[in-house]
Amino acid sequence: MSESEEWKKINESKEKRPKVQEYKNWKELPPIPISLPIEGSIGTTGDWRTFRPVILEGCNRCGLCWMYCPEGVIKQNENGSFEIDLIYCKGCGICAKECPTHKIKMIRESESDDK
Ligand code: SF4
Ligand code: SF4
Repeated sequence: MSESEEWKKINESKEKRPKVQEYKNWKELPPIPISLPIEGSIGTTGDWRTFRPVILEGCNRCGLCWMYCPEGVIKQNENGSFEIDLIYCKGCGICAKECPTHKIKMIRESESDDK
């Protein structure tokens, strides 16, 4: 069954949907809509961040940080690398915690180069 046919099963009526749907890995999960952050009345999320995530050399481009980021601010570039939008990143550190190769380091804003 093709990938798009697999996804269609999700949209079946409750009666037709399988009770349990198994996926071999997160890349098989169907797309879900998320709201991207926007500027609020007191500025952007990045304005009040204390720690910022930095992707280090050696990232294997597995995409787990992208999947776990609750703000949807990690994007994949055309060359497969991942980039964090620091304007909206809130510095929660979930990406760093979930990175299986420990290639995301959280550093104090006051210690970052562009401070
Ligand atoms: S620190 Fe939090 S908000 Fe920022 S990129 Fe990582 S998971 Fe997303
Ligand atoms: S989770 Fe870690 S290894 Fe995977 S893409 Fe993100 S930074 Fe790279």
